[in-house]
Amino acid sequence: MSLTTQGATYAPPAHAANAQQRGESSRGTRSTAEYRALDAAHHIHPFSDTGALNRNGSRIIVKAEGVYLWDSDGNRIMDGMAGLWCVNVGYGRKELADAAYRQMQDLSFYNTFFKTSHPPVIELSALLAELTPAAFNHFFYCNSGSEGNDTMLRIVHRYWATQRRPTKKYVISRKNGYHGSTIAGATLGGMDYMHEQIPSPVPHIVHIDQPYFFGEASADMTPDAFGLERARQLEAKILELGAENVAAFVGEPFQGAGGVIFPPSSYWPEIQRICRKYDVLLGADEVIGGFGRTGEWFSHQHFGFEPDLITLAKGLTSGYVPMGAVGLHDRIASALIDNGEFNHGMTYSGHPVAAAVAIANLTLLRDEGIVERVKHETGPYFQRLLRETFEDHPIVGEVAGTGLVAAVQLSSDPRTRRRFENGAEAGTICRDFCFNGNLIMRATGDRMVLSPPLVINRSEIDEIVEKAKCAIDATARQLERR
Ligand SMILES: *Cc1c(COP(=O)(O)O)cnc(C)c1O
Repeated sequence: MSLTTQGATYAPPAHAANAQQRGESSRGTRSTAEYRALDAAHHIHPFSDTGALNRNGSRIIVKAEGVYLWDSDGNRIMDGMAGLWCVNVGYGRKELADAAYRQMQDLSFYNTFFKTSHPPVIELSALLAELTPAAFNHFFYCNSGSEGNDTMLRIVHRYWATQRRPTKKYVISRKNGYHGSTIAGATLGGMDYMHEQIPSPVPHIVHIDQPYFFGEASADMTPDAFGLERARQLEAKILELGAENVAAFVGEPFQGAGGVIFPPSSYWPEIQRICRKYDVLLGADEVIGGFGRTGEWFSHQHFGFEPDLITLAKGLTSGYVPMGAVGLHDRIASALIDNGEFNHGMTYSGHPVAAAVAIANLTLLRDEGIVERVKHETGPYFQRLLRETFEDHPIVGEVAGTGLVAAVQLSSDPRTRRRFENGAEAGTICRDFCFNGNLIMRATGDRMVLSPPLVINRSEIDEIVEKAKCAIDATARQLERR
């Protein structure tokens, strides 16, 4: 097929050979215009209106170091999102690159299906057993958070089969939760705009409301009362379905992609109580919350509950290579282990290179005290600075979060928690101001979201908050002019 769509023809990039000799191949050897034309001609982007994107041209990111990105025009950009919530140790760590390089030379691939194993996957499993709470000693590997949640569902159903309780089939999750984009992950998630594009969702998955106090609590309700009310929807749903038919409840300890929604402190203890009462497994999707984001190793520890299963991805490798996993509580693991074959796996389950990179990444997070620093130093500093900066701001309704994850809620009347009539538009305006100011801050509807690399220092935090303030001030002025 001749590749000449929209005038973009594939040819080796100018000076590619020279650049490769200099070790610069990844830094980009084409002009921005050339990259955009080829991108538009041949690349369909995830979660994008690719047609609209192609008319404007994508931003070409060519390099990254620490908490900064560089685009093909030479702009230095503060990455307030750690890529997609994943680059926990920051960009450009040689330890991870070296681990991949060494592992590719020693054993680039071997599978773990047929009575075989290899050192990286063995070492990683032992390390995860050390870093996760005491009851988690077994791990199943895959390549992404989506596959992790698919795997969690497979384990849940296998578990109940081994308990001779096969009627326990329903899994309950939340509206506006995010659990990935495979068909099972998207069904488990509560994003309407994703459900709309699936012809038939996975059966036996139902949703209850999210614990989003700012957006959904009535005016006279306290956060704790609201948290209890939302948690008790789980009890009502279990009773409606019949406890003998309910297998599990799955949720993100805090909702990430849904807008960094932190539930009231009453929420998770009540969810756990209900799960125990009705013998329903509790799954925590730790894909964003895991590996230090909240200042704890896992975000369920921040909220003080004990899940039966945890989904891991993103920060597991700091995004240097893809990898996902499910951690099994001893109770679940022993049921699975002593009951015959589990008919599930991916070619790349426990991929040696990914495992080697994960080990290098987790070792840095532990031995450089990165998670500790988020808990005691940078996290509290970030949260305090955001709250001081946006206190009494005319269009900021709340700052939510802990550690190095936060949301700034835009609001047309912060005192009465009123939302902008077209909230998504306010968010988009704000995001565009950030973009132009070389700050990556994501908009989820009318919530502006930050989740920087965990290695960020105080002066870089100052820079994020200052840039966010500029963008939100500019948004307020623009909305006022309307
Ligand atoms: C990103 C994410 C996923 C999906 O992970 P992928 O690697 O994109 O498949 C699942 N759950 C949560 C909470 C996530 O943030």
